[in-house]
This record gives sequence, C-alpha cells and structure tokens, in this order.
Amino acid sequence: MSLFTLGARLAADARRLAATVKISRGDAMREIRRLATHALQLTPAQLIVRERESPGRFDLSAYGIVFDRRLRGEPLPYVLGEWPFRDHVFKVTQDVLIPRPDTEVLVEAALGACPEGRATRVLDLGTGSGCIAISIAIARPEAVVTGVDASEEALAVARENAERLGAVNARLLESDWYAALSGQTFEVIVANPPYVAEGDPHLDALKFEPLRALVGGSDGLEALRVIISAAPGHLDPGGTLVVEHGYDQRDAVCQLFSAAGFQSVETANDLSGVPRIVVGRMARKTPDKTRRKSAAVSA
Ligand code: GLN
Repeated sequence: MSLFTLGARLAADARRLAATVKISRGDAMREIRRLATHALQLTPAQLIVRERESPGRFDLSAYGIVFDRRLRGEPLPYVLGEWPFRDHVFKVTQDVLIPRPDTEVLVEAALGACPEGRATRVLDLGTGSGCIAISIAIARPEAVVTGVDASEEALAVARENAERLGAVNARLLESDWYAALSGQTFEVIVANPPYVAEGDPHLDALKFEPLRALVGGSDGLEALRVIISAAPGHLDPGGTLVVEHGYDQRDAVCQLFSAAGFQSVETANDLSGVPRIVVGRMARKTPDKTRRKSAAVSA
C-alpha cells in the first residue's frame, strides 16, 4: 500500500500505539479503526473503502486529538466517550467506571430473580454509568428500577444514559448506599461496589477510573460489608441480593451473606472463570414468633 493513503497512515499509527501503550499490533489496529470511524464519522465498511484515498482528502484534526489521548494511555472507552454493555451503548466519562463484560454476569443473575411481566422493585447501589440498572430496566419493562450513587457527576451520566436509551422505568437518585432509602424495600438489590484493596498493584492499570468506584478500604471489603449487612432491612421476605466482588473475596463475601442472615447463598464465576458474583436469598417468611420465643426460653 502506498504511504500516501489513509490506510498507511492508520497502520503507522497502530504500530506507534502498540509500542507506546504495550498492546498487540492486532488490538492496536482494531482500536485505531474505532478511533478513525468515530472521529471521521464513517462506518467500518466506509473506512475500509476510503482507506485507499489520500489522507489529504480528510479533516484529520478530530482523529488527531483522540489518537493523542489514547497514545497517552487513556482507555479507549473514555476516549470514545461511550462503550457497549450487554445490548446497548452507554455514555461514559472519567466520573464512572468503564462497564466490564464480567459485570454482564451480574445482570444475568439479577434478571434471574426478576420474572418477566412482573413489577419487580429492583435497587442498584453505586449505579455509576447506570449500565446495570438501565440494562435491567430495559430487559424487564414492567420492573421498577432504582439506581443510586453518591457521586452527582456519575448520576448525571446515568440520567443521560437512561434518557438516551428510553429506560423510563429507571429512576436515579443521589444516595450514599442506603442513606436516602430509609423505609424503602425492594425485591432485588444488586451492586458492583468498589472492592479493590487500597494499594493493590492492579490499581496502576486503572488510574484513569474514579478511585472511589474502585477502592473498598484496606481489605477491599468495606463497601461490601455495609451493603450486605444492611440489605436485609431493605429486602422483602424472599428477596435477593446480588453482588460483584474481587477475585479472591468469594469466601469472605459468602461469610458476610451468612452473617447477615441470608438463607441460601450461591456463587458464580466471571467470563474468565474467576469467582466474581454472590447471590443470596432471604427466607420467604420471618420465623414463627411463638416458636422463636419458646426456643429462647429453653435455650
Ligand atoms: N473489576 C474491576 C477491576 O478490577 C473493579 C471494579 C470494582 O471495583 N467494582 O478492574
């Protein structure tokens, strides 16, 4: 291919990107194509056809800006300002976590607790971009989904996503976990809370993402403790809590569920086979009061 084509310029940029941010040449070429289609407002097919043209025939200023941002290490979803999750594309900014494919497993587990055609009341704690709450709201149009976040900036992103995607059954509120929800109960609560431990070396690779959405105290379990221990007070009898957790936290999280009084506790892996999700169900009925009393007397 002649050096004087858009394709040659993009291939050269891909080699530079691969070397600079340490990704494979193939991944770099895929990223460059996404940046180019985004900035030049072309479909992938149009880009392929027009790659034979001279670069001078394009206004490459918008492309140059996004290429430079990516070259400086900013993750592709932030550079593009949007990222797909499940069936939809969500707006993302550096105020919210980038939606992970692994979190789609959390949504599937939550949907399993929301029968179709029923007005299930669902709560998503720490909604961020809203990708979990909005995905559930769209998949279950009869459900009433509440997404809360302590960050005003994150809520603005979630509200824009709900509007753009027509999730009319999702309401988004500012709340530090359950703080603004006193007296409210739900049938399903979901959360992908911050669960990385302070000082965890993985944080180096996540430096463009909001720290408060990633770090859960010195052992990573701080937010999970609050969410799990207070969940029974916000769940109906028979209600379900679904949480995402860190790669090495399954046993600790299962213990937190048992200590909070969940009757059944199940676990699920992420797409790489790593334990990532815990699903707990409360008992359908509160134990019979008379029996509890007599047990207390004989104890
Ligand atoms: N799963 C994310 C990561 O380690 C962390 C997300 C979170 O803390 N909820 O990349």
